Amino acid sequence: MSQPRLRLENCRFENGVWKVDAEQAKHLVKVRRCCNGSVVEGLLDGEKIELRLENCGTGEICAVELSRTKEKKAAREIHLLLALLKNDQFDEALRFAAETGVSEIHLLVCERSVPKITDRLGGKMKRWNKILAEATKQSGAAAPPVLHEPVPFEKFDFPAVCAEKYAALLAENTQPLAQIAFGKKTALAIGPEGDWSPEETRRLLAEGFVPVSLGNRILRASTAVAVGCGWLGNAKY
Ligand code: SAH
Repeated sequence: MSQPRLRLENCRFENGVWKVDAEQAKHLVKVRRCCNGSVVEGLLDGEKIELRLENCGTGEICAVELSRTKEKKAAREIHLLLALLKNDQFDEALRFAAETGVSEIHLLVCERSVPKITDRLGGKMKRWNKILAEATKQSGAAAPPVLHEPVPFEKFDFPAVCAEKYAALLAENTQPLAQIAFGKKTALAIGPEGDWSPEETRRLLAEGFVPVSLGNRILRASTAVAVGCGWLGNAKY
């Protein structure tokens, strides 16, 4: 079993010790079976902090710092261009992106995206960022991916993301990932449940995206994120 982890952004640092927030404290005790003296890993803004849990006597759990290390930079910076998806699948796609080590997520409101962002975006961004932060506890990443607010596909500034760009397309003449030598900074675009529209496909190709295949089967968009980003995270350069 992996080491229990907590994110420290939600905890208070007081008099040299961390006071663990109630939600994470409950998880550490009830699910991860931590107790007085357990050593856990705190994740904070690119750093991994070894902590020893202590009962601070106030009903709260305290964590004392033992050591700090800065997380090594990922071998490849991955930018995921992700179409907005329906709730459950979108949450799953975000988790997969965080677990596979995506650096930044750029959200596209596509023609065939079921959700159209209109109101309550602030609340949604908060919920999505929480999913990403939670997923880093699973994977042990010190920082979650940076999540950019959704932009309508036609207004998105594609050249600003990065020079090396791939689009997952269900089409002929796509290259399998295994045949590509990926560079150190790469973008991958994954379409919505209803797929890219013909106009969006044309635009991606015109913007210089290389069309790639994720295999012979048609994957759900969230699975496509796991397969594509999982490959990019591990492929040599
Ligand atoms: N509902 C559509 C499929 C959409 S899949 C249909 O049945 O035709 C959603 C997105 O996942 C696609 O736009 C594409 O970006 C990606 N994707 C899924 N499977 C893929 C594959 N085998 N190769 C490349 N991209 C794939």
